[in-house]
Amino acid sequence: MEAFIQAHEGVIRLSFFLGMLIVMGIWETLLPRRTLSVSRWARWLNNLGLVVFNSVLLRLIFPAAAVGMAAYASSQGWGLLNQVDWPPLVTILLAVVVLDFAIWLQHVMFHAVPVLWRLHRVHHADLDYDVTTGLRFHPIEILLSMLIKFAVILVLGPPVVAVILFEVLLNAGAMFNHGNVRLPPALDRIIRWVIVTPDMHRVHHSVEDDEANSNFGFNLSIWDRVMGTYRDQPRAGHLDMTIGIHGYRDKKQVTWLSGLLTLPFIGRVKGYAINRRQWQGSDNE
Ligand SMILES: [Zn+2]
Repeated sequence: MEAFIQAHEGVIRLSFFLGMLIVMGIWETLLPRRTLSVSRWARWLNNLGLVVFNSVLLRLIFPAAAVGMAAYASSQGWGLLNQVDWPPLVTILLAVVVLDFAIWLQHVMFHAVPVLWRLHRVHHADLDYDVTTGLRFHPIEILLSMLIKFAVILVLGPPVVAVILFEVLLNAGAMFNHGNVRLPPALDRIIRWVIVTPDMHRVHHSVEDDEANSNFGFNLSIWDRVMGTYRDQPRAGHLDMTIGIHGYRDKKQVTWLSGLLTLPFIGRVKGYAINRRQWQGSDNE
């Protein structure tokens, strides 16, 4: 089973990606949560264009990717989990949970550090919120994420299968919780005790700074709950809240591929330093 998963890693990941894109695309078409402000074809063309560009770039620069690093670490006996002899199921589960926490931490860092926020704002500047928002990241953020993942893998020594499982879950989770969809409220309340739901993560894409600095999780919701960054709902409600970033509303800049690639390089570096923000509409928490 393990050998099969490793041998077919690329096909497995691509199948889950396409399957999820189709499911979410149909769901968003039949039961959209919000009306889009930019035409769907323009959004999908540009956001998915960036995905294709990033995938090619990643293949060229890190052909073995995270899975290759995990295989190398285990062949060398590097990393904490390669020192112990625990049942495979335990190490796989533990590795997936630790990797999810590492991504949560990385996400907080990309918001807190001004120069990293410049990269991450390509993801947040989207004027709408749909399945393709969950995939659009600046290529430099994608490359930095991979380096951070390499570092975590070297220290953790996760089983190769756990890394493949995590990559599939992260990708599918991001596509699910960026969906322009809603779950029935009662179901949403139950699911979000464990998994980040679309309504939970949408709060994170609000233009309001305090809301955008909430709900950083992509898969497990526990990290925001225990770290104190959990926020239940947006103040203005899901239909009336504004998605995006204050001051970045020019459609050409924040929708078209050329604008997305240049977005990190405009404006002053100090613009979003964590100690300089002007809080708007603070609820004095
Ligand atoms: Zn973010």
